Amino acid sequence: MITEEKVERTEQTEGGQAKQRPLPLTLRALERLAWNYWWSWSEDAAIFRDLDPDAWEECEHNPRRLLNEVSDFRLMQMATDPGYVVRVRALAEQFDRYMERKSTWAQRRAREITAAHPVAYFCAEYGLHNSLPTYSGGLGILAGDHLKSASDLGLPLVAVGLLYRYGYFRQRIRRDGWQEEHYGELQPDLLPMSPVVDDSGAPVTVEVLIRGRMVRARAWRVEVGRVALLLLDSNLKENDPTDRWITGHLYGGDRETRVVQEMLLGIGGVRLLRKLKIEPCVYHLNEGHSAFLTIELAREFVAQGLRFAEAVERVRRLCVFTTHTPIAAGNDEFDPALIERCFGEVYWRELGLTREEFIALGRVHPTRNDEPFGMTPLAIKMSRSTNGVSRKHGEVSRALWRELWPDVSVERVPIVHVTNGVHAPTWVAPLVRSIYEKRVGKNWAEIMLDQKRWARAIERIADEELWEAHSLLKRRLVAFIRHRSHYAWLQRGESPERVDVARTLLDPDALTIGFARRVAGYKRWSLLLTDPERLLRLIDDAERPVQFVFAGKAHPQDMEAKLVLQRIAQWRTDPRIMRRAIFLQDYDQEIARQLVQGVDVWLNVPRPPLEASGTSGQKVAMNGGLNLSVLDGWWIEGFDGANGWAIGDPTTMHASLEDDARHAEALYRLLEDEVVPLYYERDADHIPRRWVTMMKHAIATLAPKFNSDRMVQDYARGIYVAKRNRP
Ligand SMILES: *Cc1c(COP(=O)(O)O)cnc(C)c1O
Repeated sequence: MITEEKVERTEQTEGGQAKQRPLPLTLRALERLAWNYWWSWSEDAAIFRDLDPDAWEECEHNPRRLLNEVSDFRLMQMATDPGYVVRVRALAEQFDRYMERKSTWAQRRAREITAAHPVAYFCAEYGLHNSLPTYSGGLGILAGDHLKSASDLGLPLVAVGLLYRYGYFRQRIRRDGWQEEHYGELQPDLLPMSPVVDDSGAPVTVEVLIRGRMVRARAWRVEVGRVALLLLDSNLKENDPTDRWITGHLYGGDRETRVVQEMLLGIGGVRLLRKLKIEPCVYHLNEGHSAFLTIELAREFVAQGLRFAEAVERVRRLCVFTTHTPIAAGNDEFDPALIERCFGEVYWRELGLTREEFIALGRVHPTRNDEPFGMTPLAIKMSRSTNGVSRKHGEVSRALWRELWPDVSVERVPIVHVTNGVHAPTWVAPLVRSIYEKRVGKNWAEIMLDQKRWARAIERIADEELWEAHSLLKRRLVAFIRHRSHYAWLQRGESPERVDVARTLLDPDALTIGFARRVAGYKRWSLLLTDPERLLRLIDDAERPVQFVFAGKAHPQDMEAKLVLQRIAQWRTDPRIMRRAIFLQDYDQEIARQLVQGVDVWLNVPRPPLEASGTSGQKVAMNGGLNLSVLDGWWIEGFDGANGWAIGDPTTMHASLEDDARHAEALYRLLEDEVVPLYYERDADHIPRRWVTMMKHAIATLAPKFNSDRMVQDYARGIYVAKRNRP
């Protein structure tokens, strides 16, 4: 990621922060902007790229590195470029207004949540921007979007997570199609994050007893608009070498690493808030990874003199929990012996519990000794509210966890849902955004939440205007794919003839289908390949070709998933397919953005009911792309018969192998009979009128609902503010 040479070139100051090189007066505001990720979803998100596009790529879109590494000549060129200087000034003024704005949604509608008592949001991963690789996929991106919306809405919120020194793995596909993993080292000194310090300027640290050793962690602060993200980091010299690795990799280690990471996140996170004198009004456990925080809160209450049962009552009043997956692997469970080893008896003694009582906190059936310690049962039992992330997922979760409420029928199990959404200013392409600004208004993102007003405004967009923008974005996607493939193929030693092919990959006029997600069993990657000959006929059609763009990572230990990937990789070396089916390696936020903004159709074929929500299709919809998806997760709520296509039926509770076959058949039939003909049906101006009508209908119906502003509003009013406290 960052070469040693560059690290050495950067001067270190006392506090461990790299000294910022002084900028010319006209560009000085860039320094302020670089320290807050707000710029990345602002109206002028290209401000850093345009300073020096080549250096921007080399710096991996990290604005602080860019400002240090851009050449003096280029810097002075831009510092004396009146157009650029005006842009910098305008953006800085906008930033100041944004940060100071007093009249916000939360000010009007969620007054109970105050800066003195904010929401504390806990998550194991955060996907804010490509320059900060502390996420693996959907959960992290969702958390990132949550913080951005909280900031936009003026909701007081402080987020807590871990700073993984090596982040999540990066993917390289070998020439034989096999996935290899590698890691880049994250350099806090060069990123927009600063050490959390106390009033005297000394670094704030917390201590947590883990595996019988006191582990110390420092904290870093990342500014996300008006929201602060605090990341704990155990990589300190005074720690035992093993403990320095606790915050080494995201989801990289064994079970034990998971337990100790989750101890640091939950227990260390609460201790950090105490050190900073932050008294949250509510703790949001976003997924069970942070559930140990409830044990720390209980310990505090017991230390104040409460009995354990009373302490639990108090903890429950403070905590709310969101479960994100109905899949076993997604619900962390640990061997009780491992829990015992990592915690040690001090923990249960301080709570006034026996070892058995302590382990029982993580069990559905407290007395079943063969039951592991589950983070989800712990979180549910210690929270006043539990929710799933779509209507269907709420229903599935009620059935999954019903035994925690043995006396009530499944419909009465108190698990509700808040459907996931995505952050429009982050995911909408600037070109589409400019159309919204023109046809909807400067405050398009606010109007988007008002279904009726938004729908009326979208009608004002001319077909030609939307189609032209979309076609351009598709061309950009094709150019991006050619560029990336060229370098990837060179790097993995393909023949010069093959590398040359990269220049001619894909056809910008052909129907382009995107399929990008983790390579996990339930995502059913292989469904598309059920009938390769039939698929080939679609792809190889001379008049009406179809092309595919794939991306996604397989879990390093999931050999089956890696074989699926390899099959896709080898299948596309068929000369008839080579130019029309592309696998982009190392799926990340940047690739996601290019894809969701450029494809015509987004394909999703999960095995019901295992897609809790899914969010990538929501990003596509905001850009005018059309979803072709199995009815599961969010799409059950989104699909209205005219804003995309649906496979299967919403009532399927557990898809069988026969459903796999039926879904594959439905997928091929929809492509052949509906999607392809509609796309290629053109009028005299070469515009696919009926297709564009569908695009507009998708934007009008889906953007208001599957939006993280709406999601955060639902959390604020429905979950964070306890009902009895409401007027
Ligand atoms: C949005 C996003 C996801 C989540 O997509 P799903 O539809 O939930 O699979 C995963 N990874 C990246 C990089 C994303 O941007």
